[in-house]
Amino acid sequence: MELNLGFDLDEVVVNLTDRLEKYIKDTYDIYWPAEYFIEYSIMGGTYNEDMELNKEMQKDLLKVVNSPELQLTAKPFDGAKEALLLLKEAGHKIFFITSRPETNTDSTLEWLKNNNIQFDSLEVIGRDKEKGFYGNKLDLDMFVDDLEKHLVSMSNHKKEWSKGLLLFDRPWNTKDTSFNRVDGWKEIMDYVENKT
Ligand SMILES: [Mg+2]
Repeated sequence: MELNLGFDLDEVVVNLTDRLEKYIKDTYDIYWPAEYFIEYSIMGGTYNEDMELNKEMQKDLLKVVNSPELQLTAKPFDGAKEALLLLKEAGHKIFFITSRPETNTDSTLEWLKNNNIQFDSLEVIGRDKEKGFYGNKLDLDMFVDDLEKHLVSMSNHKKEWSKGLLLFDRPWNTKDTSFNRVDGWKEIMDYVENKT
């Protein structure tokens, strides 16, 4: 059966934190891996004991993480490209829904092209819109995100999810959740193929 499969981009398909780690190292000579982001907040981070410098860093990092330049040079998550290709070959539809600023649409399309990722549609909706609206419109069977609030939005807008709403394991979403948790793309494939 052909499925409509939906995915968030950043921190599910695109490994933005690894790229940001490199930026922080290159620019500030500070080691800041993904595990240090125990909250999904750039502005909440204490990167430096010097509070003035820390404030500057917070502002700079927020700008940089949203910039097409950094996003374009990020790498795909381990296994993401391969899994998406298999899903496409199996006849499923692939839909991406991202909260990136709408002005980043062209660079996001460019990243997908550069990485040879085939898909059926891309929605770049900005911070303030509800992902669930699009999940319902696209009649998705499954959606994967690293932020629980987007899965809540999906379940608010659409009741039936034949393949589920999946929370992609990241350091900022470790608290208890009512959604099914997946640790990597292998586990996403298991859900699609009913191995769970
Ligand atoms: Mg994300």
